[in-house]
Amino acid sequence: MKTAFAPEQLADPEFAESRQTLRNCVHCGFCTATCPTYVLLGDERDSPRGRIELIRDMLESGRAPTREAVTHLDRCLSCLACATTCPSGVDYGQLIGHARSYIEARYRRPWPERLLRWAIPQVLTRPARLRAALALGRRARRLEPWLARARMGSLAALLRLVPEPGRPNRGLGVHPAVEARRGRVILLQGCVEPEMAPQIRDAAVRLLARAGFDVVLAKGEGCCGAIPEHLGQAGEARAMAQRNVRAWAKVGPTDAIVTTAAGCGTTLKAYGRVLGEGAAAAAAKARDILEFLDEVGLPEISNPQGLSVAYHAPCSLQHGQQIRAAPARLLRAAGFDVREVPEGHLCCGSAGVYNILQPALAGRLQARKAANIARTGALIVAAGNVGCIAQIAPAVSAPVVHPVELLDWATGGPRPLSLDQVAATAKAAAPADAD
Ligand code: SF4
Ligand code: SF4
Repeated sequence: MKTAFAPEQLADPEFAESRQTLRNCVHCGFCTATCPTYVLLGDERDSPRGRIELIRDMLESGRAPTREAVTHLDRCLSCLACATTCPSGVDYGQLIGHARSYIEARYRRPWPERLLRWAIPQVLTRPARLRAALALGRRARRLEPWLARARMGSLAALLRLVPEPGRPNRGLGVHPAVEARRGRVILLQGCVEPEMAPQIRDAAVRLLARAGFDVVLAKGEGCCGAIPEHLGQAGEARAMAQRNVRAWAKVGPTDAIVTTAAGCGTTLKAYGRVLGEGAAAAAAKARDILEFLDEVGLPEISNPQGLSVAYHAPCSLQHGQQIRAAPARLLRAAGFDVREVPEGHLCCGSAGVYNILQPALAGRLQARKAANIARTGALIVAAGNVGCIAQIAPAVSAPVVHPVELLDWATGGPRPLSLDQVAATAKAAAPADAD
């Protein structure tokens, strides 16, 4: 694609990078077939190719973005299915990231939107506030139909995601290896997952310790920065990344920085790009927990289950980090019957905070995902990202768990609480099958 940036614009490294990304696009349109918003809406401006054109026009002009551009760029999930499909290697993630921060700096949104976009990171990235908001949300659940009718879809969508109260989280410090010690890892605590699904961290610590690793929960760490990044708040995201790199430096030598939230993994792996050389070492150590276990091997399987599992691949894992085969391979190795979800490349609608900002489109993607999961006939759904779990769970009848909960169970840990009913059904069915 031809570009016409002014020389003074190209003095800014971000503009220079975007210019290169734009020039790599040959407008072939292959990416349109796998773009969820184009599949739903059929509008070129809601396709990757159309958005790339909108971004080029917006950045080159140097002016405030138009309402049209903002509408279509806001509808982008940042799922990166387009980047996986693109034969020319266009780094769409870089481009949409630049576009979002450009819009944030130069476009004045209507006040309800501004308020919502300000409030989201204020609440989601601060555990104490999120805990209080979830408690409030549980009380307010009965208002959900009224809010939906009153055209307050974002609030209604938020209430649908509020989980039941979970167990308290594991404390900071070192949780020692329980088998022959092989190394030491930091487990990213994150901000949303510990409040929405604390059982995931418990299962991850047990599993890593059983695999022979001391597990460090580092003091001073917080949100990885993914949430402000989704909102175009680049300065806030950078500050969060800096705080985490400082906190990890105090921990001493480690083999890896492991995360159970695929969305956080994509952000951690980009720390080098965001912060420069000082953070490159931390970024190189970042691993999704399923990627890490695939590298180091599972602990001994002591409890094979044989239960059917529909594996949902989070976009941040399959597209953002290009990790596709490892999760299903691990679940199969642990004795589960893994079923492929049709249209597995399409986002479930969670996409960071997309289900709060774009509830109508997110709802359509959620329903499509739920229908595809139902087609597998599996008893359990596994998804390696708390956002996907929260998005899918209200729409399917099967329990939705993180794969580490299943792997922990298969290697000697407790059965995930949400699977009590599944286990009872499978047990009741066993003698009949034997006849
Ligand atoms: S597939 Fe790649 S090169 Fe082709 S239009 Fe999409 S982004 Fe551009
Ligand atoms: S990131 Fe996802 S929603 Fe956005 S243009 Fe690419 S495929 Fe479409």
